[in-house]
Amino acid sequence: MKSVQNVPILGVPILHTTKENFIDLIHERIKLEKKTFIVTANPEIVMMANENKEFMNYLQKADFITPDGIGIVKASKWLNKPLPERVPGFDTMKDLLALANRNHYRVYFLGARQEVLDQLIQITGREYPEMKIVGAHNGFFDWQDSQILEEIQQLKPDLIFIALGAPKQEQWISQHIDQFEKGIFMGVGGSFDGIAGVVPRAPEIWQKLNIEWLYRLFQQPSRWKRMLAIPQFVLKVWGQKIKR
Ligand code: UDP
Repeated sequence: MKSVQNVPILGVPILHTTKENFIDLIHERIKLEKKTFIVTANPEIVMMANENKEFMNYLQKADFITPDGIGIVKASKWLNKPLPERVPGFDTMKDLLALANRNHYRVYFLGARQEVLDQLIQITGREYPEMKIVGAHNGFFDWQDSQILEEIQQLKPDLIFIALGAPKQEQWISQHIDQFEKGIFMGVGGSFDGIAGVVPRAPEIWQKLNIEWLYRLFQQPSRWKRMLAIPQFVLKVWGQKIKR
């Protein structure tokens, strides 16, 4: 990690930033063509890293790990190293699309189902007309096939959004980033589905009340198993606090 301030949450260094400052930071790096790997962390990701060494290794290659979930911000407060605010991956992606629009940046989308991807290209093409979508591929491909890799190498996009869900997207980025010259590589989970309107985002009031995770659970009940990580995360953070 670079010379930025991080707050370790169960061994995962979380960037101490506001969303606005983070966008400025990324803008600087685009201008300098500094290759960047962004992970957006929620409690599930932090628990996954604690349980799976390989996943922790992927995260160690990240330049920035941002506090996507409210659980991460709460944990930082319990540990007396408060993070200023949540930096939701979905909002960050939208801000970066707006930044790309203002600066005519070149963008590549990798991930999600083909219908979602088509929808995403249509919507973002309309909403961000000055941004250049230079390429896209759905998220169901053979990892041995080098076609996507070669395409990104040739196109050299400024921003590459990768929506394969965790841990796949972090694995893909960490295993391939060395082969690219430039680009901001960001894992964005279900954000393509969100923008395409396949999975509706929680209404603002749910977001304000910090219960967006509960809304997602209602929308996709199959997520409940993954969400068991949240109480385990809380217990583990309190364990870390007490040990101190
Ligand atoms: N996905 C994909 N390839 C895969 C598995 C998943 O492109 O092999 C996509 C899936 O279609 C969805 C996203 O990855 O668009 C996963 O979203 P999810 O909400 O599960 O991710 P999370 O936000 O939980 O990381």
